[in-house]
Amino acid sequence: MSKTKTTKTGSAQVPHENGRTRPALRFDRAAAYAPAPEASDIVTIKARQGHFIDGEFVESAEGNSFETINPATEEVLGEVAKGSAEDVDRAVKAARKAYEKVWSKLPAAERGKYLFRISRILQERAREFAVLESLDGGKPIRESRDVDVPLAAAHFFYYAGWADKLDFAFGGRTTAPIGVAGQIIPWNFPLLMAAWKLAPALATGNTCVLKPAETTPLTALLLAEVLQQADLPPGVVNIVTGFGDTGAALASHKGIDKVAFTGSTEVGKRIQRTAKARHLTLELGGKAANIVFADCALDQAVEGIVNGIYFNQGHVCCAGSRLLVEESVHDRLIQKLEDRIQTLIVGDPLDKNTDIGAINSKSQLATIQRYLQAGVEDGCEIHQSRRTLPKKGFWCAPTYFTGVAQSSRIAQEEIFGPVLAVMTFRTPEEAIEKANNTMYGLSAGIWTDKGSKIFKMLSQMRAGVVWANTFNKFDPASPFGGYKESGYGREGGAHGLAAYLEVK
Ligand code: NAP
Ligand code: MG
Repeated sequence: MSKTKTTKTGSAQVPHENGRTRPALRFDRAAAYAPAPEASDIVTIKARQGHFIDGEFVESAEGNSFETINPATEEVLGEVAKGSAEDVDRAVKAARKAYEKVWSKLPAAERGKYLFRISRILQERAREFAVLESLDGGKPIRESRDVDVPLAAAHFFYYAGWADKLDFAFGGRTTAPIGVAGQIIPWNFPLLMAAWKLAPALATGNTCVLKPAETTPLTALLLAEVLQQADLPPGVVNIVTGFGDTGAALASHKGIDKVAFTGSTEVGKRIQRTAKARHLTLELGGKAANIVFADCALDQAVEGIVNGIYFNQGHVCCAGSRLLVEESVHDRLIQKLEDRIQTLIVGDPLDKNTDIGAINSKSQLATIQRYLQAGVEDGCEIHQSRRTLPKKGFWCAPTYFTGVAQSSRIAQEEIFGPVLAVMTFRTPEEAIEKANNTMYGLSAGIWTDKGSKIFKMLSQMRAGVVWANTFNKFDPASPFGGYKESGYGREGGAHGLAAYLEVK
Protein backbone atom coordinates (compact mmCIF):
# COMPACT_ATOMS: atom_id res chain seq x y z
CA MET A 1 0.00 0.00 0.00
CA SER A 2 1.24 3.41 -0.87
CA LYS A 3 0.03 4.74 2.51
CA THR A 4 2.32 2.50 4.54
CA LYS A 5 4.98 4.52 6.41
CA THR A 6 7.99 3.45 8.43
CA THR A 7 8.63 4.74 11.97
CA LYS A 8 12.00 5.52 13.56
CA THR A 9 12.04 2.04 15.05
CA GLY A 10 11.73 0.62 11.57
CA SER A 11 8.35 -1.05 12.02
CA ALA A 12 5.87 -0.48 9.21
CA GLN A 13 2.90 1.70 10.23
CA VAL A 14 -0.43 1.78 8.44
CA PRO A 15 -3.42 4.12 8.92
CA HIS A 16 -5.94 2.92 11.48
CA GLU A 17 -9.70 3.38 11.26
CA ASN A 18 -9.59 6.00 14.06
CA GLY A 19 -7.29 8.24 12.04
CA ARG A 20 -4.08 7.30 13.89
CA THR A 21 -1.59 4.72 12.69
CA ARG A 22 -0.98 1.19 13.88
CA PRO A 23 1.76 -1.39 13.20
CA ALA A 24 1.30 -3.39 9.97
CA LEU A 25 0.18 -6.96 10.49
CA ARG A 26 3.18 -9.22 10.84
CA PHE A 27 1.46 -12.56 11.26
CA ASP A 28 2.61 -14.91 8.52
CA ARG A 29 -0.01 -17.62 8.17
CA ALA A 30 2.05 -19.68 5.72
CA ALA A 31 4.92 -19.85 8.19
CA ALA A 32 2.60 -20.45 11.13
CA TYR A 33 0.96 -23.55 9.72
CA ALA A 34 2.95 -26.74 9.19
CA PRO A 35 2.20 -28.33 5.80
CA ALA A 36 -0.87 -30.58 5.93
CA PRO A 37 -0.94 -32.33 2.57
CA GLU A 38 -3.83 -34.59 1.71
CA ALA A 39 -2.52 -38.03 0.67
CA SER A 40 -2.90 -38.62 -3.04
CA ASP A 41 -2.58 -42.41 -2.96
CA ILE A 42 -6.36 -42.74 -2.80
CA VAL A 43 -6.48 -42.13 -6.55
CA THR A 44 -5.11 -44.43 -9.21
CA ILE A 45 -4.83 -42.76 -12.57
CA LYS A 46 -4.58 -45.13 -15.50
CA ALA A 47 -1.71 -44.35 -17.87
CA ARG A 48 -4.18 -44.15 -20.75
CA GLN A 49 -7.94 -43.82 -20.71
CA GLY A 50 -10.48 -44.04 -23.50
CA HIS A 51 -13.85 -42.40 -24.10
CA PHE A 52 -16.88 -43.74 -22.26
CA ILE A 53 -19.31 -44.82 -24.97
CA ASP A 54 -22.26 -47.19 -24.69
CA GLY A 55 -21.27 -48.20 -21.17
CA GLU A 56 -17.65 -49.07 -21.97
CA PHE A 57 -14.28 -47.38 -22.11
CA VAL A 58 -13.14 -47.38 -25.73
CA GLU A 59 -10.14 -46.09 -27.69
CA SER A 60 -10.65 -43.21 -30.10
CA ALA A 61 -11.35 -44.32 -33.67
CA GLU A 62 -8.14 -42.71 -34.92
CA GLY A 63 -6.10 -43.92 -31.96
CA ASN A 64 -5.15 -40.36 -30.93
CA SER A 65 -4.64 -39.27 -27.35
CA PHE A 66 -3.35 -36.29 -25.37
CA GLU A 67 -1.73 -35.72 -21.99
CA THR A 68 -3.37 -34.10 -19.01
CA ILE A 69 -1.04 -32.51 -16.48
CA ASN A 70 -1.05 -31.34 -12.90
CA PRO A 71 -0.83 -27.54 -13.26
CA ALA A 72 0.81 -27.22 -9.83
CA THR A 73 3.80 -29.38 -10.81
CA GLU A 74 3.58 -29.66 -14.62
CA GLU A 75 3.80 -33.45 -14.19
CA VAL A 76 1.91 -35.61 -16.64
CA LEU A 77 -0.93 -37.41 -14.87
CA GLY A 78 -1.99 -39.61 -17.77
CA GLU A 79 -3.17 -39.76 -21.35
CA VAL A 80 -6.75 -39.61 -22.50
CA ALA A 81 -8.33 -40.32 -25.87
CA LYS A 82 -8.63 -37.39 -28.27
CA GLY A 83 -12.12 -37.42 -29.71
CA SER A 84 -12.68 -37.11 -33.44
CA ALA A 85 -15.93 -36.45 -35.31
CA GLU A 86 -16.23 -40.22 -35.68
CA ASP A 87 -16.03 -40.76 -31.91
CA VAL A 88 -18.64 -38.06 -31.34
CA ASP A 89 -20.88 -39.72 -33.91
CA ARG A 90 -20.51 -43.07 -32.21
CA ALA A 91 -21.41 -41.54 -28.84
CA VAL A 92 -24.44 -39.72 -30.26
CA LYS A 93 -25.71 -42.96 -31.85
CA ALA A 94 -25.27 -44.82 -28.53
CA ALA A 95 -27.19 -42.03 -26.75
CA ARG A 96 -29.99 -42.16 -29.35
CA LYS A 97 -30.33 -45.93 -29.05
CA ALA A 98 -30.38 -45.75 -25.24
CA TYR A 99 -32.96 -42.95 -25.38
CA GLU A 100 -35.32 -44.82 -27.68
CA LYS A 101 -34.94 -48.33 -26.33
CA VAL A 102 -34.37 -47.84 -22.60
CA TRP A 103 -34.34 -44.45 -20.90
CA SER A 104 -37.48 -42.87 -22.34
CA LYS A 105 -39.41 -46.08 -21.60
CA LEU A 106 -38.34 -46.33 -17.98
CA PRO A 107 -40.85 -45.29 -15.28
CA ALA A 108 -39.80 -41.89 -13.90
CA ALA A 109 -39.32 -43.22 -10.37
CA GLU A 110 -36.78 -45.74 -11.74
CA ARG A 111 -34.80 -42.92 -13.34
CA GLY A 112 -34.81 -41.23 -9.95
CA LYS A 113 -33.39 -44.32 -8.30
CA TYR A 114 -30.37 -44.29 -10.61
CA LEU A 115 -29.72 -40.65 -9.74
CA PHE A 116 -29.99 -41.32 -6.01
CA ARG A 117 -27.52 -44.16 -6.47
CA ILE A 118 -25.06 -41.93 -8.35
CA SER A 119 -25.33 -39.30 -5.63
CA ARG A 120 -24.64 -41.84 -2.90
CA ILE A 121 -21.62 -43.33 -4.67
CA LEU A 122 -20.22 -39.83 -5.20
CA GLN A 123 -20.51 -39.24 -1.48
CA GLU A 124 -18.84 -42.57 -0.72
CA ARG A 125 -15.96 -41.79 -3.10
CA ALA A 126 -15.84 -38.08 -2.22
CA ARG A 127 -12.21 -38.02 -1.09
CA GLU A 128 -11.05 -39.73 -4.25
CA PHE A 129 -12.91 -37.21 -6.39
CA ALA A 130 -11.64 -34.25 -4.37
CA VAL A 131 -8.00 -35.32 -4.66
CA LEU A 132 -8.31 -36.06 -8.37
CA GLU A 133 -10.01 -32.71 -9.02
CA SER A 134 -7.20 -30.86 -7.25
CA LEU A 135 -4.51 -32.87 -9.05
CA ASP A 136 -5.92 -32.36 -12.53
CA GLY A 137 -7.18 -28.78 -12.19
CA GLY A 138 -4.98 -27.14 -9.53
CA LYS A 139 -7.75 -26.00 -7.17
CA PRO A 140 -7.16 -26.18 -3.40
CA ILE A 141 -8.27 -29.45 -1.81
CA ARG A 142 -10.28 -27.47 0.74
CA GLU A 143 -12.44 -26.28 -2.08
CA SER A 144 -12.77 -29.48 -4.10
CA ARG A 145 -13.50 -31.32 -0.83
CA ASP A 146 -15.95 -28.77 0.63
CA VAL A 147 -17.52 -27.25 -2.46
CA ASP A 148 -17.15 -29.12 -5.76
CA VAL A 149 -17.75 -32.70 -4.68
CA PRO A 150 -20.52 -32.20 -2.08
CA LEU A 151 -22.37 -29.84 -4.44
CA ALA A 152 -22.06 -32.34 -7.31
CA ALA A 153 -23.55 -35.09 -5.13
CA ALA A 154 -26.24 -32.68 -3.91
CA HIS A 155 -27.16 -31.91 -7.50
CA PHE A 156 -27.79 -35.54 -8.38
CA PHE A 157 -29.72 -35.92 -5.14
CA TYR A 158 -31.87 -32.87 -5.81
CA TYR A 159 -32.79 -33.85 -9.37
CA ALA A 160 -33.36 -37.47 -8.36
CA GLY A 161 -36.24 -36.12 -6.28
CA TRP A 162 -37.76 -34.30 -9.26
CA ALA A 163 -37.72 -37.30 -11.65
CA ASP A 164 -41.20 -38.58 -10.75
CA LYS A 165 -42.70 -35.19 -9.87
CA LEU A 166 -42.37 -33.40 -13.20
CA ASP A 167 -46.16 -33.15 -13.52
CA PHE A 168 -46.09 -30.78 -10.55
CA ALA A 169 -43.25 -28.59 -11.79
CA PHE A 170 -45.18 -26.68 -14.46
CA GLY A 171 -48.60 -26.04 -12.99
CA GLY A 172 -50.30 -29.16 -14.36
CA ARG A 173 -48.94 -28.88 -17.90
CA THR A 174 -47.58 -32.10 -19.40
CA THR A 175 -43.93 -32.53 -20.16
CA ALA A 176 -41.80 -34.70 -22.43
CA PRO A 177 -38.03 -35.15 -22.64
CA ILE A 178 -36.20 -33.48 -25.50
CA GLY A 179 -34.11 -36.48 -26.57
CA VAL A 180 -30.31 -36.52 -26.85
CA ALA A 181 -28.34 -33.69 -25.23
CA GLY A 182 -24.81 -32.66 -26.26
CA GLN A 183 -23.16 -31.06 -23.23
CA ILE A 184 -19.89 -29.13 -23.27
CA ILE A 185 -18.24 -27.97 -20.05
CA PRO A 186 -15.22 -25.85 -18.97
CA TRP A 187 -12.29 -26.56 -16.68
CA ASN A 188 -13.09 -24.44 -13.64
CA PHE A 189 -15.52 -26.82 -11.88
CA PRO A 190 -15.09 -30.01 -13.91
CA LEU A 191 -17.10 -32.49 -11.82
CA LEU A 192 -19.62 -29.92 -10.64
CA MET A 193 -20.32 -28.69 -14.17
CA ALA A 194 -20.76 -32.32 -15.29
CA ALA A 195 -23.30 -32.79 -12.47
CA TRP A 196 -25.09 -29.53 -13.38
CA LYS A 197 -25.49 -30.81 -16.91
CA LEU A 198 -26.15 -34.52 -16.40
CA ALA A 199 -28.45 -34.57 -13.36
CA PRO A 200 -31.36 -32.49 -14.75
CA ALA A 201 -31.02 -34.07 -18.21
CA LEU A 202 -31.25 -37.60 -16.84
CA ALA A 203 -34.01 -36.79 -14.34
CA THR A 204 -36.16 -35.46 -17.17
CA GLY A 205 -35.61 -38.57 -19.33
CA ASN A 206 -32.94 -37.43 -21.80
CA THR A 207 -29.70 -39.18 -22.68
CA CYS A 208 -26.37 -37.37 -22.91
CA VAL A 209 -23.03 -36.98 -24.63
CA LEU A 210 -20.67 -34.94 -22.43
CA LYS A 211 -17.43 -33.28 -23.54
CA PRO A 212 -15.17 -32.25 -20.62
CA ALA A 213 -12.51 -29.53 -21.03
CA GLU A 214 -9.13 -30.46 -22.42
CA THR A 215 -7.19 -29.68 -19.24
CA THR A 216 -9.53 -31.41 -16.76
CA PRO A 217 -10.93 -34.67 -18.17
CA LEU A 218 -10.09 -36.96 -15.24
CA THR A 219 -13.01 -36.50 -12.83
CA ALA A 220 -15.48 -36.88 -15.70
CA LEU A 221 -13.87 -40.23 -16.50
CA LEU A 222 -14.00 -41.23 -12.83
CA LEU A 223 -17.66 -40.25 -12.88
CA ALA A 224 -18.06 -42.70 -15.79
CA GLU A 225 -16.81 -45.43 -13.43
CA VAL A 226 -19.44 -44.34 -10.91
CA LEU A 227 -22.11 -44.61 -13.62
CA GLN A 228 -20.96 -48.17 -14.30
CA GLN A 229 -21.01 -48.89 -10.56
CA ALA A 230 -24.58 -47.54 -10.39
CA ASP A 231 -25.55 -49.88 -13.28
CA LEU A 232 -26.78 -46.99 -15.38
CA PRO A 233 -27.93 -48.58 -18.66
CA PRO A 234 -25.25 -48.36 -21.40
CA GLY A 235 -25.49 -45.32 -23.66
CA VAL A 236 -27.54 -43.17 -21.29
CA VAL A 237 -24.41 -41.10 -20.58
CA ASN A 238 -21.45 -41.03 -22.97
CA ILE A 239 -18.28 -39.06 -22.35
CA VAL A 240 -15.97 -38.05 -25.19
CA THR A 241 -12.70 -36.35 -24.23
CA GLY A 242 -10.84 -33.98 -26.51
CA PHE A 243 -10.12 -30.40 -27.55
CA GLY A 244 -12.25 -27.60 -28.92
CA ASP A 245 -12.77 -29.38 -32.27
CA THR A 246 -14.30 -32.34 -30.41
CA GLY A 247 -16.70 -29.89 -28.76
CA ALA A 248 -17.42 -28.27 -32.12
CA ALA A 249 -18.21 -31.68 -33.67
CA LEU A 250 -20.63 -32.39 -30.83
CA ALA A 251 -22.27 -28.95 -30.81
CA SER A 252 -22.96 -29.05 -34.56
CA HIS A 253 -23.96 -32.73 -34.75
CA LYS A 254 -27.24 -33.33 -36.60
CA GLY A 255 -28.23 -36.20 -34.31
CA ILE A 256 -28.64 -34.20 -31.09
CA ASP A 257 -31.77 -32.38 -29.95
CA LYS A 258 -30.20 -30.02 -27.45
CA VAL A 259 -26.87 -28.31 -26.87
CA ALA A 260 -26.01 -27.25 -23.34
CA PHE A 261 -22.80 -25.25 -23.20
CA THR A 262 -20.86 -23.63 -20.39
CA GLY A 263 -17.76 -21.71 -21.35
CA SER A 264 -16.59 -18.49 -22.91
CA THR A 265 -18.89 -16.02 -24.62
CA GLU A 266 -16.79 -16.26 -27.77
CA VAL A 267 -17.22 -20.05 -28.13
CA GLY A 268 -20.87 -19.75 -27.07
CA LYS A 269 -21.56 -17.38 -29.96
CA ARG A 270 -19.84 -19.75 -32.37
CA ILE A 271 -22.00 -22.61 -31.13
CA GLN A 272 -25.11 -20.50 -31.53
CA ARG A 273 -24.24 -20.08 -35.22
CA THR A 274 -23.39 -23.73 -35.93
CA ALA A 275 -25.78 -25.73 -33.72
CA LYS A 276 -28.46 -27.69 -35.55
CA ALA A 277 -30.27 -28.83 -32.42
CA ARG A 278 -33.73 -27.42 -31.64
CA HIS A 279 -32.77 -26.43 -28.09
CA LEU A 280 -29.80 -24.47 -26.83
CA THR A 281 -28.74 -23.15 -23.44
CA LEU A 282 -25.59 -21.08 -22.96
CA GLU A 283 -23.91 -20.29 -19.64
CA LEU A 284 -21.15 -17.86 -20.50
CA GLY A 285 -18.82 -15.34 -18.91
CA GLY A 286 -19.30 -12.72 -16.23
CA LYS A 287 -17.86 -9.53 -14.70
CA ALA A 288 -19.66 -9.35 -11.39
CA ALA A 289 -19.78 -6.20 -9.30
CA ASN A 290 -19.38 -6.62 -5.57
CA ILE A 291 -20.96 -3.44 -4.16
CA VAL A 292 -19.88 -2.35 -0.69
CA PHE A 293 -21.84 0.36 1.13
CA ALA A 294 -20.35 2.33 4.02
CA ASP A 295 -23.01 0.99 6.41
CA CYS A 296 -22.07 -2.68 6.02
CA ALA A 297 -19.99 -4.88 8.32
CA LEU A 298 -16.67 -4.13 6.65
CA ASP A 299 -14.70 -7.11 7.95
CA GLN A 300 -17.42 -9.45 6.77
CA ALA A 301 -17.39 -7.72 3.38
CA VAL A 302 -13.62 -8.21 3.11
CA GLU A 303 -14.09 -11.96 3.60
CA GLY A 304 -16.81 -11.89 0.96
CA ILE A 305 -14.56 -10.00 -1.45
CA VAL A 306 -11.70 -12.44 -0.87
CA ASN A 307 -14.03 -15.39 -1.28
CA GLY A 308 -15.56 -13.81 -4.37
CA ILE A 309 -12.40 -13.22 -6.37
CA TYR A 310 -9.53 -15.24 -4.95
CA PHE A 311 -11.64 -18.35 -4.39
CA ASN A 312 -10.68 -20.95 -7.02
CA GLN A 313 -7.94 -18.61 -8.32
CA GLY A 314 -10.67 -16.39 -9.78
CA HIS A 315 -11.54 -19.18 -12.21
CA VAL A 316 -15.20 -18.55 -11.54
CA CYS A 317 -17.65 -17.17 -14.08
CA CYS A 318 -19.58 -15.43 -11.30
CA ALA A 319 -16.42 -14.15 -9.55
CA GLY A 320 -16.74 -10.76 -7.88
CA SER A 321 -14.08 -9.31 -10.16
CA ARG A 322 -15.18 -5.66 -9.82
CA LEU A 323 -15.29 -4.10 -6.37
CA LEU A 324 -17.51 -1.02 -6.16
CA VAL A 325 -16.93 0.61 -2.81
CA GLU A 326 -18.65 3.67 -1.35
CA GLU A 327 -16.07 6.42 -1.47
CA SER A 328 -16.22 7.30 2.23
CA VAL A 329 -14.96 3.84 3.27
CA HIS A 330 -12.61 3.22 0.36
CA ASP A 331 -9.35 3.72 2.27
CA ARG A 332 -10.45 1.72 5.31
CA LEU A 333 -11.70 -1.13 3.17
CA ILE A 334 -8.57 -1.20 1.03
CA GLN A 335 -6.38 -1.33 4.12
CA LYS A 336 -8.33 -4.31 5.41
CA LEU A 337 -8.15 -5.99 2.00
CA GLU A 338 -4.42 -5.35 1.81
CA ASP A 339 -3.90 -6.91 5.25
CA ARG A 340 -6.03 -9.88 4.27
CA ILE A 341 -4.39 -10.74 0.97
CA GLN A 342 -0.97 -10.75 2.61
CA THR A 343 -2.22 -13.63 4.78
CA LEU A 344 -3.52 -15.77 1.91
CA ILE A 345 -1.53 -18.95 1.37
CA VAL A 346 -0.74 -19.64 -2.28
CA GLY A 347 0.72 -23.03 -3.07
CA ASP A 348 0.30 -26.80 -3.10
CA PRO A 349 -3.37 -27.47 -3.96
CA LEU A 350 -3.28 -30.68 -1.94
CA ASP A 351 -2.24 -28.86 1.24
CA LYS A 352 -5.28 -28.33 3.45
CA ASN A 353 -3.97 -24.90 4.52
CA THR A 354 -3.84 -23.59 0.96
CA ASP A 355 -6.19 -20.74 0.08
CA ILE A 356 -5.18 -20.25 -3.55
CA GLY A 357 -4.02 -23.07 -5.78
CA ALA A 358 -2.47 -23.22 -9.24
CA ILE A 359 -3.74 -21.47 -12.34
CA ASN A 360 -5.37 -24.12 -14.49
CA SER A 361 -3.04 -23.97 -17.48
CA LYS A 362 -0.04 -22.21 -18.93
CA SER A 363 -2.22 -20.48 -21.51
CA GLN A 364 -4.67 -19.22 -18.84
CA LEU A 365 -1.72 -17.85 -16.86
CA ALA A 366 -0.49 -16.04 -19.97
CA THR A 367 -3.98 -14.55 -20.43
CA ILE A 368 -4.05 -13.32 -16.83
CA GLN A 369 -0.56 -11.83 -17.17
CA ARG A 370 -1.65 -9.95 -20.29
CA TYR A 371 -4.46 -8.41 -18.24
CA LEU A 372 -2.09 -7.45 -15.42
CA GLN A 373 0.00 -5.67 -18.02
CA ALA A 374 -3.11 -4.04 -19.51
CA GLY A 375 -4.13 -2.74 -16.07
CA VAL A 376 -0.73 -1.14 -15.56
CA GLU A 377 -0.75 0.31 -19.10
CA ASP A 378 -4.19 1.80 -18.46
CA GLY A 379 -2.71 3.70 -15.50
CA CYS A 380 -4.25 1.64 -12.67
CA GLU A 381 -2.26 1.05 -9.49
CA ILE A 382 -1.36 -2.62 -8.97
CA HIS A 383 -1.18 -4.27 -5.52
CA GLN A 384 -0.17 -7.89 -5.07
CA SER A 385 0.54 -10.37 -2.33
CA ARG A 386 4.25 -10.34 -1.55
CA ARG A 387 4.35 -14.09 -0.97
CA THR A 388 6.92 -16.09 -2.91
CA LEU A 389 5.26 -18.28 -5.49
CA PRO A 390 6.34 -21.87 -6.18
CA LYS A 391 8.90 -22.21 -8.98
CA LYS A 392 7.30 -25.04 -10.91
CA GLY A 393 3.73 -24.91 -12.13
CA PHE A 394 1.45 -22.00 -13.02
CA TRP A 395 0.86 -19.37 -10.32
CA CYS A 396 -0.54 -15.90 -9.96
CA ALA A 397 -0.33 -13.82 -6.79
CA PRO A 398 -3.67 -12.46 -5.57
CA THR A 399 -3.89 -8.99 -7.09
CA TYR A 400 -6.07 -5.90 -6.89
CA PHE A 401 -5.97 -2.69 -8.85
CA THR A 402 -7.01 0.69 -7.46
CA GLY A 403 -7.64 3.86 -9.45
CA VAL A 404 -9.46 1.86 -12.11
CA ALA A 405 -11.47 3.72 -14.77
CA GLN A 406 -14.77 2.30 -15.99
CA SER A 407 -13.34 2.11 -19.48
CA SER A 408 -10.24 0.15 -18.50
CA ARG A 409 -9.96 -3.35 -19.97
CA ILE A 410 -9.58 -4.84 -16.50
CA ALA A 411 -12.94 -3.28 -15.55
CA GLN A 412 -14.74 -4.47 -18.66
CA GLU A 413 -13.30 -7.83 -19.75
CA GLU A 414 -13.45 -11.16 -17.99
CA ILE A 415 -9.98 -12.05 -16.70
CA PHE A 416 -10.76 -15.41 -15.10
CA GLY A 417 -7.93 -15.06 -12.61
CA PRO A 418 -7.34 -13.75 -9.04
CA VAL A 419 -7.46 -10.11 -10.14
CA LEU A 420 -9.80 -7.51 -8.66
CA ALA A 421 -10.59 -4.08 -10.13
CA VAL A 422 -11.53 -1.56 -7.42
CA MET A 423 -13.73 1.44 -8.21
CA THR A 424 -15.76 3.85 -6.07
CA PHE A 425 -19.27 5.34 -6.02
CA ARG A 426 -21.10 8.00 -3.99
CA THR A 427 -24.80 7.16 -4.40
CA PRO A 428 -26.79 3.93 -4.86
CA GLU A 429 -27.80 5.16 -8.34
CA GLU A 430 -24.17 5.52 -9.33
CA ALA A 431 -23.43 2.03 -7.98
CA ILE A 432 -26.26 0.54 -10.06
CA GLU A 433 -25.16 2.36 -13.17
CA LYS A 434 -21.59 1.21 -12.78
CA ALA A 435 -22.57 -2.35 -11.86
CA ASN A 436 -24.72 -2.60 -15.00
CA ASN A 437 -22.05 -1.01 -17.19
CA THR A 438 -20.75 -4.26 -18.69
CA MET A 439 -21.73 -6.56 -21.52
CA TYR A 440 -22.19 -9.33 -18.95
CA GLY A 441 -24.90 -9.93 -16.36
CA LEU A 442 -24.28 -13.14 -14.50
CA SER A 443 -23.96 -12.22 -10.83
CA ALA A 444 -23.39 -9.43 -8.31
CA GLY A 445 -23.03 -8.84 -4.57
CA ILE A 446 -24.41 -6.14 -2.26
CA TRP A 447 -23.03 -5.40 1.20
CA THR A 448 -25.17 -3.17 3.39
CA ASP A 449 -26.86 -3.06 6.76
CA LYS A 450 -30.14 -1.93 5.18
CA GLY A 451 -32.56 -4.51 3.81
CA SER A 452 -34.48 -1.80 1.96
CA LYS A 453 -31.33 -0.81 0.09
CA ILE A 454 -30.78 -4.41 -0.96
CA PHE A 455 -34.28 -4.67 -2.47
CA LYS A 456 -34.03 -1.31 -4.17
CA MET A 457 -30.71 -2.27 -5.76
CA LEU A 458 -31.95 -5.74 -6.70
CA SER A 459 -34.85 -4.44 -8.71
CA GLN A 460 -32.53 -2.44 -10.95
CA MET A 461 -29.57 -4.73 -11.35
CA ARG A 462 -29.15 -6.69 -14.56
CA ALA A 463 -27.61 -9.82 -13.08
CA GLY A 464 -28.97 -13.36 -12.89
CA VAL A 465 -27.82 -13.98 -9.31
CA VAL A 466 -27.38 -11.29 -6.65
CA TRP A 467 -25.96 -12.20 -3.25
CA ALA A 468 -26.60 -9.95 -0.28
CA ASN A 469 -24.03 -9.81 2.54
CA THR A 470 -22.46 -12.99 1.21
CA PHE A 471 -20.93 -14.19 -2.04
CA ASN A 472 -20.55 -17.35 -4.12
CA LYS A 473 -23.14 -19.39 -2.31
CA PHE A 474 -24.73 -22.22 -4.27
CA ASP A 475 -27.57 -24.60 -3.76
CA PRO A 476 -29.04 -27.10 -6.23
CA ALA A 477 -32.52 -25.70 -5.59
CA SER A 478 -31.49 -22.22 -6.69
CA PRO A 479 -31.44 -21.33 -10.40
CA PHE A 480 -28.28 -19.90 -11.94
CA GLY A 481 -27.80 -18.10 -15.24
CA GLY A 482 -27.21 -14.78 -16.88
CA TYR A 483 -28.51 -11.64 -18.55
CA LYS A 484 -27.03 -10.12 -21.72
CA GLU A 485 -23.82 -11.77 -22.98
CA SER A 486 -23.64 -14.06 -19.96
CA GLY A 487 -25.95 -16.39 -21.86
CA TYR A 488 -29.48 -17.66 -21.59
CA GLY A 489 -31.37 -20.46 -19.92
CA ARG A 490 -31.12 -21.37 -16.25
CA GLU A 491 -29.42 -24.28 -14.52
CA GLY A 492 -30.43 -25.50 -11.07
CA GLY A 493 -33.77 -25.57 -9.30
CA ALA A 494 -37.09 -26.18 -11.01
CA HIS A 495 -35.98 -23.69 -13.70
CA GLY A 496 -33.20 -26.13 -14.64
CA LEU A 497 -35.80 -28.77 -15.51
CA ALA A 498 -37.32 -26.59 -18.22
CA ALA A 499 -34.06 -26.61 -20.14
CA TYR A 500 -34.46 -30.35 -20.77
CA LEU A 501 -38.20 -30.64 -21.34
CA GLU A 502 -40.83 -29.86 -23.93
CA VAL A 503 -43.58 -28.30 -21.84
CA LYS A 504 -46.98 -28.69 -23.51
P1 NAP B 1 -14.09 -22.26 -23.59
O1 NAP B 1 -12.80 -22.09 -24.26
O2 NAP B 1 -15.28 -21.65 -24.18
O3 NAP B 1 -14.28 -23.82 -23.40
C1 NAP B 1 -15.41 -24.41 -22.81
C2 NAP B 1 -15.61 -25.79 -23.39
O4 NAP B 1 -15.90 -25.67 -24.79
C3 NAP B 1 -14.39 -26.70 -23.30
O5 NAP B 1 -14.82 -28.02 -23.13
C4 NAP B 1 -13.76 -26.50 -24.65
O6 NAP B 1 -12.95 -27.57 -25.04
C5 NAP B 1 -14.99 -26.42 -25.54
N1 NAP B 1 -14.77 -25.77 -26.81
C6 NAP B 1 -13.74 -24.98 -27.21
N2 NAP B 1 -13.94 -24.56 -28.47
C7 NAP B 1 -15.12 -25.08 -28.89
C8 NAP B 1 -15.89 -24.99 -30.09
N3 NAP B 1 -15.48 -24.29 -31.13
N4 NAP B 1 -17.07 -25.64 -30.14
C9 NAP B 1 -17.53 -26.35 -29.09
N5 NAP B 1 -16.84 -26.48 -27.94
C10 NAP B 1 -15.65 -25.85 -27.83
O7 NAP B 1 -14.05 -21.71 -22.11
P2 NAP B 1 -12.98 -22.04 -21.03
O8 NAP B 1 -11.86 -21.09 -21.25
O9 NAP B 1 -12.70 -23.48 -20.96
O10 NAP B 1 -13.80 -21.68 -19.72
C11 NAP B 1 -13.82 -20.43 -19.17
C12 NAP B 1 -15.09 -19.69 -19.56
O11 NAP B 1 -16.23 -20.38 -19.10
C13 NAP B 1 -15.17 -18.35 -18.92
O12 NAP B 1 -15.51 -17.37 -19.87
C14 NAP B 1 -16.26 -18.49 -17.89
O13 NAP B 1 -16.94 -17.34 -17.56
C15 NAP B 1 -17.14 -19.50 -18.50
N6 NAP B 1 -17.91 -20.20 -17.48
C16 NAP B 1 -19.23 -19.90 -17.35
C17 NAP B 1 -20.00 -20.54 -16.39
C18 NAP B 1 -21.46 -20.22 -16.25
O14 NAP B 1 -22.16 -20.96 -15.61
N7 NAP B 1 -21.94 -19.15 -16.81
C19 NAP B 1 -19.43 -21.50 -15.57
C20 NAP B 1 -18.08 -21.79 -15.72
C21 NAP B 1 -17.33 -21.14 -16.70
P3 NAP B 1 -11.37 -27.52 -24.74
O15 NAP B 1 -11.18 -27.34 -23.29
O16 NAP B 1 -10.92 -28.85 -25.16
O17 NAP B 1 -10.85 -26.37 -25.55
MG1 MG C 1 -5.01 -31.21 -16.02
